[in-house]
Amino acid sequence: MHIADILAAQRPSFSFEFFPPKTSEAAGKLFETIAQLEPYNPAFVSVTYGAGGSTREMTHDLVVRLKTTTSLDPIPHLTCVCHQEAEVHEILERYARAGVGNILALGGDPPRDLQNYRKADDAFQHAADLVRFIRQFSEQRGVHPDARGFGIGVAGFPEGHPATPNRLKEMDFLKAKVDAGADYIVTQLFFDNHDFFDFRDRCGLSGIKVPIIAGIMPITSSAGLSRMADLAAGSRFPARLLKALARAGSDPESVRRVGLHYATEQCADLLDHEVDGLHFYTLNQSSATREIYASLGLRTAEAV
Ligand SMILES: Cc1cc2nc3c(=O)[nH]c(=O)nc-3n(C[C@H](O)[C@H](O)[C@H](O)COP(=O)(O)OP(=O)(O)OC[C@H]3O[C@@H](n4cnc5c(N)ncnc54)[C@H](O)[C@@H]3O)c2cc1C
Repeated sequence: MHIADILAAQRPSFSFEFFPPKTSEAAGKLFETIAQLEPYNPAFVSVTYGAGGSTREMTHDLVVRLKTTTSLDPIPHLTCVCHQEAEVHEILERYARAGVGNILALGGDPPRDLQNYRKADDAFQHAADLVRFIRQFSEQRGVHPDARGFGIGVAGFPEGHPATPNRLKEMDFLKAKVDAGADYIVTQLFFDNHDFFDFRDRCGLSGIKVPIIAGIMPITSSAGLSRMADLAAGSRFPARLLKALARAGSDPESVRRVGLHYATEQCADLLDHEVDGLHFYTLNQSSATREIYASLGLRTAEAV
């Protein structure tokens, strides 16, 4: 379903992110997670694209499997890295044929294992170029089952993207993605809602009117915290959160409870302040998301 229809049907929206499993055992676990989360009737689920397109086939296969064997509406991520126009065209054709309604268009993380990767060789230098290409693809008559073509999402960074320290320029670049045809924004994880509210206000001041969905990553372990600090480079960890984690010490269950409590408070505050949607980075596990739902009073799909 086109994202405009999805968000018209469920506001605020609740959605989940998965990554493509690399082994059959991991795939089995993921589909257990999916079976546990499906009853919550998420507005959509998104599937990541490995750095440098490394999960190209796996992302496609998971998206098609979700589309054909579950009630979920999958949105594939697609990145600029290591791609030429013809490849992206083919990827879009396959998704259109499978009836996939939306794409999350991203700049993409550089491949870690390709020593001779040169960004200049990519056909699309920034996500805005990819958005424009998807929009042009969609304008070809009959290419997509929905006359509007693909709905398009883009990434937003409430705390700023590390590659663009100039926050005014960064907002211009985000606006360029929306002007190129993006229908919604999903944010990077953040731990201080003030950053999100300020980002949302700055988007408004820049004339960005599309829905902004907040990305939520609950901390469930000390190792997860370190991984997050590494992956979401530049993320701020507020003292209030770190103090609570320090009180939990090295007891894994206490760390988990603190992390989930913090994420629940964040979600409740976002909902109270009319967030357009909450997008949970699930890491292919269901329990954290289910516990947050329960603490928010959202025990059933009807409550959502
Ligand atoms: C919700 C979400 C999902 C993600 N999923 C994935 C995934 O599946 N796979 C993956 O590899 N990565 C993923 N990422 C990471 C993302 O690809 C990287 O953080 C990337 O560095 C930024 O992506 P972007 O789409 O914002 O890129 P862009 O919009 O291209 O921006 C990248 C940088 O370039 C700057 N910039 C933009 N336009 C211009 C311009 N015209 N001139 C100069 N500078 C410019 C921006 O300010 C920014 O600093 C995800 C991030 C988010 C928030």
